[in-house]
Amino acid sequence: MNEQPLRTTVIGSYPFPGWLEFSTSHLDQFGPDDVREMQADAVWCAVQDQVAAGLDVITDGEQTRFDFNLSFYGYLQGIELEGAPLRRFGPPAHDQRGKHRVVGELTAPRGLGAVQEYQRLEQVVRAGYAQAASGITLKASVPGPYTLSGRLLPNDCYRDRWALTEALLPIVRTELEALVAAGCREITVDEPSMSCYAHREDPRRFVDIFNRTVESVVGKCRLGTHLCFGNFKARAVGKREYAPMFPAFLEMKVDEMHVEMASREMAELPIISAIARHCDVAVGIIDVKSYYIETPEDVASRVRSCLEHAPAGKLAFAPDCGLSQTARWAARRKLVNMVAGVKQVRQELGLK
Ligand SMILES: [Zn+2]
Repeated sequence: MNEQPLRTTVIGSYPFPGWLEFSTSHLDQFGPDDVREMQADAVWCAVQDQVAAGLDVITDGEQTRFDFNLSFYGYLQGIELEGAPLRRFGPPAHDQRGKHRVVGELTAPRGLGAVQEYQRLEQVVRAGYAQAASGITLKASVPGPYTLSGRLLPNDCYRDRWALTEALLPIVRTELEALVAAGCREITVDEPSMSCYAHREDPRRFVDIFNRTVESVVGKCRLGTHLCFGNFKARAVGKREYAPMFPAFLEMKVDEMHVEMASREMAELPIISAIARHCDVAVGIIDVKSYYIETPEDVASRVRSCLEHAPAGKLAFAPDCGLSQTARWAARRKLVNMVAGVKQVRQELGLK
């Protein structure tokens, strides 16, 4: 199933360059063409860092989701932009982010924007990296409906998070179908909220939601999911334990399942052997929340530990989560060392 044994991959996001963050707080001073140019330039930066690191799979770094109107919520009709958060001061936590009010039927007549993101990524890669990118896979990532529902407030029409999830499910499914139609061959459906809350919900209910979301694209692309424990300003939110999810999550219709291991000191690593019997397993071996830069030797040692539980052909390696909450200088060095460490083990095994 896995084209490249011990493939190196990433979760969707990458830190914004400083100029992008500055510009996005002054968007009213830019024209639509300026914004388009800025988006392509930002994707170019993310692509350049990932290609230079030598990854097998890259994304657009989610560089264009920098503003409410350009985020998934900006594509949804029937919602009103978030009000002020309940807490505005003190240490960072999810409650410092407001939730969006639902004021009508939830629809997304223009889709969720992931197709345009994928096409922009393709254009940027084709323009500058045709040679280098010939063996590189381009991946798109889309939040699943349960995760996406987390920032919407239930109302009389959609009474709880489950009802909101059911309303978002066909919207996400349509986006996945559109991505496949646009030629995207690898898609991750991010559902970190499922891993965060599996300890208090029925995990089979999550699996049912996931499988209904992806059912029309199963077999038409390489499908993955990302199951971390939250990374809001580098803070976790869930009970950081995979045991409550299994064995139920082995029924998920995916080709690759990503789990967060590095920040948890590789706890529960034996779980990857069960996952590898079902699908490929992408193991998080880079801690995106720590400014300790893992050395290639650290990485190689973690890869060897994984090989005690799963065969090379079923293993992929990635950071624990997207890198958007990690300073770019550190993100860049962590990716370089991740690839170098994995390559070291590939050589030891006589793989190319
Ligand atoms: Zn994550």
